[in-house]
Amino acid sequence: MHDSFVAVLSSGSCGNSTFVSASETSLLIDAGLSCRELERRLAIYGIEPQQIEGVLLTHEHTDHNRGARRFCKMHGVSLFGTAGTLALTPHEDVNSIVISDRESLAIGSISVRPFPVNHLAAEPVAFSLTLNGAKVSIASDLGCFTERVVREMKCSNLLMVEANYDEEMLRNGNYPGFLKRAIMSDHGHLSNYDAGNLCASTASDASKEIVLLHLSKDNNSSEVAKDAVCDSIGELMPRMSVVPVEHGLHAGPFKL
Ligand SMILES: [Zn+2]
Ligand SMILES: [Zn+2]
Repeated sequence: MHDSFVAVLSSGSCGNSTFVSASETSLLIDAGLSCRELERRLAIYGIEPQQIEGVLLTHEHTDHNRGARRFCKMHGVSLFGTAGTLALTPHEDVNSIVISDRESLAIGSISVRPFPVNHLAAEPVAFSLTLNGAKVSIASDLGCFTERVVREMKCSNLLMVEANYDEEMLRNGNYPGFLKRAIMSDHGHLSNYDAGNLCASTASDASKEIVLLHLSKDNNSSEVAKDAVCDSIGELMPRMSVVPVEHGLHAGPFKL
């Protein structure tokens, strides 16, 4: 029996996966690394793949589903995703379970609440999870945030939010114009500035920590992202800590 915690196995365009554990139930949110790399990073936290009850996919982009089929097949883990996500994710020989983008479900002792987001994918969602009385929200690949997103994320003890790019760095960077526009659009990724606004809109007395996800390798840095979010929440929540996850590295455990 151990306490509830969250560990980011990897975050960013090279692969996303987050491990969430309550006393007797463990889940992965996304499996965007190879099966072998997922196993290797779980081992850092002393976790056996067989302990995991389900992999929950946010959407079908490869940086989120790359290792899903192999990992689930090899270790007898169930794969959860919306109909749109599963339709575009290989899942032969895997126990796949379709979830709705607006109905809560229970997986073991974890209550999972998916909610729709604006990213350019078939049927993308973010998740709020409740475990042992604590709430964690994991919202990456957002494009923009809606009132619904703010509402779903309120009262989280741990807020995990995308902070993909610094606007100035992206504008002045080497990406072609069409790509810059796609990233900045309402169906692309969330800027540091927007991440700060989202955190300021959702953070409350319940919130202890903010973890920043999906930082761009080219158009962001940990310092720049952290500064932007701290600027937005500074006066509201002076004691709250903000932890940016370096592109491609693991981070945590974050206790709940
Ligand atoms: Zn995506
Ligand atoms: Zn992504």
